[in-house]
Amino acid sequence: MSKLSIRDLSPAGKRVLMRVDFNVPLDDQLQITDDTRITAAVPSIEYLVKAGAKVVLMSHLGRPKAAPNPKYSLKPVAVRLGELIDAPVHFVEDCVGEKAEAAVAAMKDGEVLLLENVRFYPGEEANDADFSKQLASLGDLYVNDAFGTAHRAHASTAGVTEYLSPCAMGFLVEKELEYLVDKLEDPARPFVVIMGGAKVSDKIEVLNRLMGKADAFIIGGAMANTFRLAQGYQIGKSLAEPDKTDLALQILDKAEKNGIEFLLPADTRHTAEFRDEAPTECTAVWGEGGAIPDDREGIDIGDKAIEEFSKKIAEAGTIIWNGPMGVFEKRGFDIGTKAVGKAIADNKKAVKIVGGGDSVTAANQFGFGEEMDHMSTGGGASLELLEGKELPGIAALDDK
Ligand code: AMP
Repeated sequence: MSKLSIRDLSPAGKRVLMRVDFNVPLDDQLQITDDTRITAAVPSIEYLVKAGAKVVLMSHLGRPKAAPNPKYSLKPVAVRLGELIDAPVHFVEDCVGEKAEAAVAAMKDGEVLLLENVRFYPGEEANDADFSKQLASLGDLYVNDAFGTAHRAHASTAGVTEYLSPCAMGFLVEKELEYLVDKLEDPARPFVVIMGGAKVSDKIEVLNRLMGKADAFIIGGAMANTFRLAQGYQIGKSLAEPDKTDLALQILDKAEKNGIEFLLPADTRHTAEFRDEAPTECTAVWGEGGAIPDDREGIDIGDKAIEEFSKKIAEAGTIIWNGPMGVFEKRGFDIGTKAVGKAIADNKKAVKIVGGGDSVTAANQFGFGEEMDHMSTGGGASLELLEGKELPGIAALDDK
C-alpha cells in the first residue's frame, strides 16, 4: 500500500514538523563541505512554504553522543538553507523545551525554523516516548523527508508519528521509493546489477534478494577478490574476506542454477605500492598462470574487465550501481570506477539508479551525476530497501 504524500496534505496555516537529513560534512572551521543533503530537501521545504505552512525542521548531525556539542550544531546549516530558499529561515538553539516552543510560537506562515540537533538528547536514538511527545508538540502534522535515516526507528523518524496526524512522506522519500522499489517491480530488461566496494558480507542480502530479479550481475572492487579466492585463484595481498569464500561459492552456484549471468573481472589491476599514481599492472585474464604475485595487491578491475563490463552495461534496460570497482579515492586506482560510471552514463535508454554512499561520491567526482536518473541519498537505507526490508521511518507514516 502506498504512503500518504506531502501532496495529499492541506498545510496552509499549519505547523508542519518535518524530519530532514541535514547530516552534512563540516570541516575544522565548521564550514559545510558538501550541501547535497540540504539541496535534496529544498523541494519539500519550498512546497510547504509556498502553501503557507510554518515549516519546523528537525535533523541530526554527526554523532554527538546524546549531549550538546557546538561541533555538531546545525546553525551553519540554517545559514546555508537561508541562501538556498526564498523564505525567512530561523534557527533555535534547542529542539524541545521553552526556547523551541517560543521560537515556533513566533513563526509566521511561510517561514522556516530549524531546530537544534535532535541527537543532543538521549531520547532521540532511544525513541523515547516523552521526548517524542515533546517534539510532536511543536507541530500539527508531520512530514518525513529524511531518507538517509529512514532505516532507524528514532524519536524524530518514528516516535513522533504516534502523536501527530496526518503523517506523510516528502518528495525526496517519494522519489527514493519510486526508483528503489516501484521501478524494480517490473524492471525494463535486461536488468543489470553492478556491485563493488570492500566487502561481500555488506552486500550479501542485496545480492540474494536481487538474484530473483536481475538478469546479470557485474562484480568489481575488493568484493571480486573474495570470489576469485573462493575459485582457487591467487590474489597476492589483495583485500578479501577469506572467511566468506563459502558464501561466495554459494552465490556463484545459485546464479548458475538460476541462469543468471555473473560477471567477475576478467583481469585485475594491481600494485606493489598503495599510493596515488603508483605504477600498476593488469594480470592477464584469470585462469592459467593468472595469479597476482604475493607482494602485490589488486586495487582495481583491469582493462579486459572494463571492456566486458562496458559491453554488458550498454545492453541494459535497468541498471543499479552500488559500490566502486576499485580504490577510486587514489589517482591511478580509479580507472575502472571511472570507466564503469561512463558506460552507465553512455547508456541513454536505461533507467540508471545509483545506490548511496561511495558510488554517488564517485559518480559526482567523475562528472556523471547529472546523467543518472536517481542517486540515492541514503547508503544504509537504500541497501535495506533493496534487501526488501521495511524501513521504520516509512512504515510509521500513514497509508493513503
Ligand atoms: P563499500 O563501502 O563497501 O562500498 O566500499 C567502498 C570502499 O571499497 C572504497 O573506499 C574503496 O576504496 C574500497 N575498495 C574498492 N575496491 C577495492 C580493492 N580492490 N581493494 C581495496 N579496497 C577497495
